[in-house]
Amino acid sequence: MQALVVGKGTSAKSACKLCKQNNISVRHVASDSAFVALTKEKQDRLLCGLSFVVFSSGIPKRGEMYKMIRQKRLRVVDEIELAFGYENAPVVAVSGTNGKTTTTTLIYKCLCTKFQTLLGGNIGVPYAEHVQQPHEISVLEVSSYQLEKCTKFRPHIGVMCNITPDHIAHHGSMEAYVEAKAKLFARQTKKDFAVLNADDAEVMRLQTKAKRYYFSLKKEVVGCFLQDGCIYFKDKHTTEPQKLIATSEIGLLGAHNIQNVMACMVASYLAGVPWQNILSIVRSFRGVAHRLQHVLCVQGVTFYNDSKATNVASSIVAMQAICAPKVVILGGSDKGFSFDDLFMFAPASVKAFVLTGEVAGRLERSASAFSKAPFVRVLTLKQAVMQAWLLAEKGDCVLFSPACASFDAFKNYAQRGRMFCTYVRELKRDASKTIKEAGNYTK
Ligand code: ADP
Repeated sequence: MQALVVGKGTSAKSACKLCKQNNISVRHVASDSAFVALTKEKQDRLLCGLSFVVFSSGIPKRGEMYKMIRQKRLRVVDEIELAFGYENAPVVAVSGTNGKTTTTTLIYKCLCTKFQTLLGGNIGVPYAEHVQQPHEISVLEVSSYQLEKCTKFRPHIGVMCNITPDHIAHHGSMEAYVEAKAKLFARQTKKDFAVLNADDAEVMRLQTKAKRYYFSLKKEVVGCFLQDGCIYFKDKHTTEPQKLIATSEIGLLGAHNIQNVMACMVASYLAGVPWQNILSIVRSFRGVAHRLQHVLCVQGVTFYNDSKATNVASSIVAMQAICAPKVVILGGSDKGFSFDDLFMFAPASVKAFVLTGEVAGRLERSASAFSKAPFVRVLTLKQAVMQAWLLAEKGDCVLFSPACASFDAFKNYAQRGRMFCTYVRELKRDASKTIKEAGNYTK
């Protein structure tokens, strides 16, 4: 057999490795544009005699190369789908616009208390890298980029956290984005489970043949739900709900994290993890770096790093999750969506916004139209940290929840988050000197 692997990232490397381990010869091309730049003769030679083509997730489905490959009627698979072909264990797959990594991490920790568990997908280690190593169950974070090319991927338990606008530039439209997400459930049968956010209308519209379980902050459902500050579980319509845990025992900020915890609890229970294991993991979990991560306190002002908030919905929940008065830093590279909601739905506890990055101009226009709080524009993230601190008073928070991608100035959100933490630490070190330079400003 002969495959062509397209892509230059870790998932393409793992896909090549998996093919070779299974005696499939591999040709490789780094990207869509690298392929398009080749002469017609070389292109034909690359595509000749192929059994299938593996696309890594960043390669656009609407790109030139994809079109040519489809014209030749070659089978296209994503790295996730390639790996799934070699899977012998049940798969729990988590998708959604926001909350995937938090929910996947938490499920992984719960599964590990009972099973030998493989963690993979969008969360860091490609699925193809380890799928052939011994394990009893897999938990995968899967993005819309990965799902859009899947036709056979079938998780035993599919979890959909939520669906709000994101990645529209890549998919072409909101409809196409939702269609990609829907593939999580498309191949499931009634032996499988779908874990759905009952509070999200877009999620509730998705079709599946699997048994449906839900999680909800608002109403009693089959699955997990919130009532009087406690999480309950109900297995069937006819059974009595069982009280599991008070939200005060959960060490994560915000209602959105209660949703993530509930999604995890339902999925882990369905996978066969005993409640006592699930509850002890939930009680001890303190979240994942760059997601509402407490950084430190500089003279009474607490800093939070939420660099992973790369769309409007995630920044809104972050602003709501922190109750204290706060200064919010926004901005980064442009993904094309409107920022109006960000200012319209910002809670009254936001005292000021600091706008930065490539999108600062667009943010400023939305803020002018909709913000009730004052806003100021600065050039760099370092300046934003200083400016936010100067605007904050003792007891306030500074929340860095950019609502944008990071590619204008950083390699990725993690590097941006680390830089934010570095600037905050430098600020702490220089704080007393800064106060002097800022005149009679006191905290
Ligand atoms: P993802 O992997 O989908 O990007 P993460 O768990 O990494 O999700 O969280 C990314 C950001 O999204 C967080 O910084 C937080 O602000 C926000 N977020 C997390 N969970 C949710 C949720 N359930 N609903 C909305 N926003 C969320």
